[in-house]
Amino acid sequence: MTKPLTNMQTRDVEALLHPYTNAVMHREVGAHVIERGEGVYVYDDQGRRFIEGMAGLWCCGLGFGDRELIETAQAQLEKLPYYHLFGGRSHEPAIELAEKIKDLAPGMARVFYQSSGSEANETQIKLAWYYNNAMGRPEKKKIISRVKGYHGVSIVSASLTGLPYNHKSFDLPVDRIHHTATPHHWRGAEPGESEADFSARLAREFDEMIEAEGPDTVAAFIAEPVMGAGGVIAPPEGYFEAITPVLAKHDVLCIADEVICGFGRTGEWFGHQRLGMKPNAISMAKQLTGGYVPLSAVAIDAQMAEVIERHTGEVGIFGHGFTYGGHPLGCAVGSAAIDIYRRRDIPARVRALEPEFQRRLRSYADHPLVGEARGIGLLGALELTPGGTAMFDPVGKVGPYLAMRLLEHGVILRAIGDTLAFCPPMTISEDELDQLFAPIERCLDETLHWATREGMM
Ligand code: PMP
Repeated sequence: MTKPLTNMQTRDVEALLHPYTNAVMHREVGAHVIERGEGVYVYDDQGRRFIEGMAGLWCCGLGFGDRELIETAQAQLEKLPYYHLFGGRSHEPAIELAEKIKDLAPGMARVFYQSSGSEANETQIKLAWYYNNAMGRPEKKKIISRVKGYHGVSIVSASLTGLPYNHKSFDLPVDRIHHTATPHHWRGAEPGESEADFSARLAREFDEMIEAEGPDTVAAFIAEPVMGAGGVIAPPEGYFEAITPVLAKHDVLCIADEVICGFGRTGEWFGHQRLGMKPNAISMAKQLTGGYVPLSAVAIDAQMAEVIERHTGEVGIFGHGFTYGGHPLGCAVGSAAIDIYRRRDIPARVRALEPEFQRRLRSYADHPLVGEARGIGLLGALELTPGGTAMFDPVGKVGPYLAMRLLEHGVILRAIGDTLAFCPPMTISEDELDQLFAPIERCLDETLHWATREGMM
């Protein structure tokens, strides 16, 4: 028996279409209405407290209620609540934030703003196309991303995303977008194949894909340093080191989607620095403002910037830009967030917490429900399976059941299919980490009993 909906839940189902939600089930179960947040906790409208193990949607790296971010936002709203960067206008918050991004990402020469990760990646593809038109090679336009990569939901960024739900019933992907293999050693390696050999094989397959498509038609490769929404998959040893020479050989641009990995999440300022990726361009969002204000940015290296800027002179104007790209509120809060990351040395803090966080995760590896416990920095996942790398039948019931059990115990974690993802605020204390992990063993046991009863084990 499901409980009758509260007044707020009734208003919700009558007014909202929810992202990433089964609307039919949602009408039965009702919304979980969150009212406020403080530190690593959020409180719902029934007064219950939860530890936010996902930092919202991988974005609230500084937790909730940070006074400095709030006061910065208020001061900026009073001074200049809106301005844009079109037609050569500018404002100091945009300039200052771009300077700070360049300081953190050596090699990047220019910053271009949007409001979301999807818009950042949409911009990346338009820049790659614009760049190749400027270079006089209009055929070089195909983009290669990866199966299980996540790059957003607008038409091109959803096409880059390599997940079935983002394509099915939307007539996607569009043409000129191709997907190469997921660098997931546990699931993808041949028996006995080492991580290094697996990486070398994937790089070979990638090379063959470019050869088959025609190197003169391939513009760019886009990848998350650590795959996030595809299930938290860190690349195996030597992966980007093997991919990089293939990109160089075919003159293919490398785009790092740092929307999750940026700003300390992996223990470096950017994930590409930790994982050995050598990007020509970077997308960032989410933790850029600690999630408090929508803002995203693309940074490009000097070579791309030079070609693109020159071409704007040839065609007359750079015909791209969003009304809210570089919003002063987002830029001011982003600037303050970077100051906090620096002052508290958040990357070092993540490196200090990483061994204990990863040890805790891996302590569940022997649980009969856990196929793989994995992660890097303060990102982690438990992939649930009925045994080995087998998948549950049906897929995507066991993960959400576990997440629901955890919710009953005051912990918010996200089920991505049958994988439980972890991405706590980077400010989490050791005590709070204890609270995050406290109910996991018990909830895994409860889920195991349920899955067995349901005949899924
Ligand atoms: N890239 C990555 C790596 C992401 O994780 C996300 C969002 N989860 C996006 C892009 C899309 O960002 P948005 O939802 O802000 O459009």
